[in-house]
Amino acid sequence: MECAEVRAALSARLDGEDAALSGDIVDAHVAHCEECQAWYTQATAIGRDLRLRANPPAPTQGAGAGLAAKVFRWLKITQRLAVTYAAGSFRCWEPASR
Ligand SMILES: [Zn+2]
Repeated sequence: MECAEVRAALSARLDGEDAALSGDIVDAHVAHCEECQAWYTQATAIGRDLRLRANPPAPTQGAGAGLAAKVFRWLKITQRLAVTYAAGSFRCWEPASR
């Protein structure tokens, strides 16, 4: 088995996706492959680091502040529309049924 296949499966596992290889096969390979062990350790550390950085503080001044404010406002509007639509209360967009 190729290390690349195993790492793709490990990557899918870290992302919470279904892997092409079964977990037992992947774990058996990682147990005796030091390179994949090192890769998995690093990938896990990177994933944790990314999750910690998922909510960075928005710039409050400088060139990025205006754009960041616009993006955040747009995201809030989009989120509200999605929630409203999901709740089924977006009736004004549906054709009138008589
Ligand atoms: Zn390997």
